Amino acid sequence: MKKIKSSRMKVLVLNSGSSSVKYQLFNGSNKKSLVQGKISNIGTDEAEIWLKRDKGNAVKFTKSILNHELAIRQILDSLLNKKTGFIKDVSEIFAVGHRVVHGGEFFSQPTIITDEVLARIEECSQLAPLHNPAQIKGIQACQKLLQGVPEVAVFDTAFHQTIHRETYLYGIPYAYYEKYKIRRYGFHGTSHYYVARQASKLDGRPIQKLKIITCHLGNGSSLAAVKHGKCIDTSMGFTPLEGLIMGTRSGDIDCSAVFYLMRQENLTIDQADSILNKESGLKGLSNNSNDMLKIIEHSKKGDEQSQVAFDAFCYRIKKYVGAYTAAMNGLDVLVFTAGIGENSPPVRAKVCDELDFLGIKLSNLVNNQTIGVEKMISKDESPVKVWVIPTNEELVIAEQTLNVIYSDVKQEG
Ligand code: ADP
Repeated sequence: MKKIKSSRMKVLVLNSGSSSVKYQLFNGSNKKSLVQGKISNIGTDEAEIWLKRDKGNAVKFTKSILNHELAIRQILDSLLNKKTGFIKDVSEIFAVGHRVVHGGEFFSQPTIITDEVLARIEECSQLAPLHNPAQIKGIQACQKLLQGVPEVAVFDTAFHQTIHRETYLYGIPYAYYEKYKIRRYGFHGTSHYYVARQASKLDGRPIQKLKIITCHLGNGSSLAAVKHGKCIDTSMGFTPLEGLIMGTRSGDIDCSAVFYLMRQENLTIDQADSILNKESGLKGLSNNSNDMLKIIEHSKKGDEQSQVAFDAFCYRIKKYVGAYTAAMNGLDVLVFTAGIGENSPPVRAKVCDELDFLGIKLSNLVNNQTIGVEKMISKDESPVKVWVIPTNEELVIAEQTLNVIYSDVKQEG
């Protein structure tokens, strides 16, 4: 590995989806974000390109971008732009960090991508068919366009690999775990890790002494129980379907209800899969929308279906908060993050309502004033501190990418 010059220490973070690539360029020496952007509708003549520089307005335009390689080429072109770019030469990109959704049982740490690692990520595609294949495309495009630049995979599942066997196993014949690795994996790990760490920093107590529940509430939603810095349970399971009621996913449901529905409606496996993943949750319950803002708006206007969707969403979170407090034998900090967690005082208020027996006392005033910023929203005397902490998965990916590469350099040295 070459000697590292700080001027060349830019880290590119990529999050590749099936028809989109999100990116962020960080200055490696101070971890400052220089520019972030997103290309969506990849595969069409009208791909949307959006980018925002640290100091400056957002820019938006459309262009034909037919595949992931061309999308990443577009990102590099804009980073190299003579007037508005951030690098003079691609050699200034010191490393690329890729978000990878599923690392199965193979990966509990961020990992430098080699042919063997890529093969393992490909193996995990069976467990995340919507995510891993897109992320592999992103990795392969970088291997082609940024030859020689080290790439690191940061896994959504990795933070949850500390969960114990009795927690991650399902009550089905053990042979299916051995044969197919059917178990709880958990997702949003990078976000849960970031907000738990940030909560301990803001709270001024070491994470090793804290019992924290992190609520990542976005379109996809999950909770994690983080005891003394390690994840001991999380609500998503073998796939992101399990656990909370989400934008369009059902969350927990009796499997027999699904078999019953399939028989009654003559559904194929794919149709049932699509109903549970794309037509359920807030959208299914409200008969209307998967968008929490709209659910709240319609509830206020007296729409009963929206009200029931809101209530069910919040109740499920509360139930998990109770369960995880029991699992940890206590609770010190409760954190809300992601689109809904960061921006919705009504959801936070409903979840925390009548949890005073657990030591959760919300300040209604502060809760109502807190939108999208780091803030403690519990009363000063509340035994459990409740925080709103905007998540920053990209920063964690950049940090972990650098750490992995530094430790590789040290080992080589
Ligand atoms: P994901 O990354 O999983 O796609 P996000 O974390 O961006 O999702 O969260 C999207 C959700 O956040 C949507 O349901 C949206 O309605 C909700 N949201 C955003 N702003 C608000 C708000 N001010 N109040 C309530 N919900 C909001």
